[in-house]
Amino acid sequence: MVFKRKSRPTVIIIGANFGGLTAVTTLLKQFTVIVVDPTPWFEYLPGIHELVSGVKTPSLLKLSSPKIVRRAGHRFIKDRVVQILPDKNLVIMKNGTSLSYDFCIVAIGGVKNTFGTPGADTHAVSFSNIENCHFIGKQLKILSKAKTPSHIVIVGGGIEGIEVLGEILRKFKDIKHIRIRLIERENRLLNEIPADIDSEIRKHCRPYPVEFITEASVKKVTGKTVFLTNGKRLKSDLTIWTAGAKPHPLLLLSGFTETADQWAPVSGTLQHIVHKNVFFAGDAADVPDVHSKQAYHAIDMGHCAALNINRIHSGKALQPFKPRPKPIIVSFGDLDTYVIAGDFVLAGSALSSLKEVVFQKVMMDFDPAGIALKGLHLSNRAVRSALPLALSTTFSLSALKRLGKVRLLDKRKEKTKRMRQRKHD
Ligand SMILES: Cc1cc2nc3c(=O)[nH]c(=O)nc-3n(C[C@H](O)[C@H](O)[C@H](O)COP(=O)(O)OP(=O)(O)OC[C@H]3O[C@@H](n4cnc5c(N)ncnc54)[C@H](O)[C@@H]3O)c2cc1C
Repeated sequence: MVFKRKSRPTVIIIGANFGGLTAVTTLLKQFTVIVVDPTPWFEYLPGIHELVSGVKTPSLLKLSSPKIVRRAGHRFIKDRVVQILPDKNLVIMKNGTSLSYDFCIVAIGGVKNTFGTPGADTHAVSFSNIENCHFIGKQLKILSKAKTPSHIVIVGGGIEGIEVLGEILRKFKDIKHIRIRLIERENRLLNEIPADIDSEIRKHCRPYPVEFITEASVKKVTGKTVFLTNGKRLKSDLTIWTAGAKPHPLLLLSGFTETADQWAPVSGTLQHIVHKNVFFAGDAADVPDVHSKQAYHAIDMGHCAALNINRIHSGKALQPFKPRPKPIIVSFGDLDTYVIAGDFVLAGSALSSLKEVVFQKVMMDFDPAGIALKGLHLSNRAVRSALPLALSTTFSLSALKRLGKVRLLDKRKEKTKRMRQRKHD
């Protein structure tokens, strides 16, 4: 496709979180840029589990998106996009108006996936935004004051399920009448991680009323009961749904995908494979080399998509998106933290400073003035010593060990265990 050179092209960015806000701050001032999002807040999703224990407050995890967009010299519209017509270069808004574009960046993330489980949308709280996680924290406080036993069911033993369990234990582990069950479809917790964190988590939970039910799925959810496929019925005063995300319906509705379960197919330069003036950034994009949907990839994709639009405008060749290797940090309340970095998996509470410094650094990059108002100054000693690591793209074992007492989890043990399991099967 040959792009017509206009003196002041219009770029519409749909979605103002990690991908969209990075794009707006990267685009040149020569564009007319309009950012559309139904919520006026940037939400730091990787930190929302800490709302459950009250370690973080909603205001600490939010920034004003219109302010960030205005500071970049552009315009924010608070509305929901209901359809994109890529053949006509038009975006249709919920308020009935439409906007035309020369380029569009779609950064709408994904949506909760309840896999069609009856009752899950109505009776389970999705662990997906600040409002819901704050609500979970408040409900737990109420249940902790009750005189009778309270039952919490967490659906999903992936990163989010483990992080929410850790925060519940951080705050409520001494309240014996709060009983927690975690349901996981696979035969171990954190199945996607190449080390045996499962046995670590179980060891930490031994003193507390926590039960893990693996190799089971949820069949139905009602107001007070979770029904499992293995026939079990679990009492539940609060059901927390952490089990996965699926593509945003806007992708299929706008003709970017052929089925509802497909993420947007893009080229290496993040352009849609058919509609070359539509770029995708973040979770919405299906990028072959990106194996997990993470905020740091969304940030890098927002940057890459915007740079490529800048390059088209300047008549330069486009550059491919190259995912940077970054560690995955999984916190388990105040009991432990795990860092999965390339070939090794480390454990130790001292690693939690790494998660905190990533949070403070991202917030500072989006809103340098706003973060000072929140009292975050990258000043705490533990956080400061983790800063060089958070800025680095390579995470050496020795550098991570300097953060404090850590344990190297043996991947070979996990391999042997899996081999034994296979033989047994
Ligand atoms: C509980 C949880 C924990 C996580 N932990 C980590 C972690 O530790 N580390 C990590 O790197 N990543 C983590 N992630 C993943 C990370 O948050 C995502 O990868 C990241 O948010 C993706 O950014 P995005 O900009 O693509 O989409 P999102 O952040 O999902 O933002 C999408 C934006 O699009 C807007 N939008 C949606 N529909 C429309 C529409 N129709 N019109 C206009 N706007 C629309 C939304 O309002 C939202 O602002 C976590 C996610 C969750 C939910």
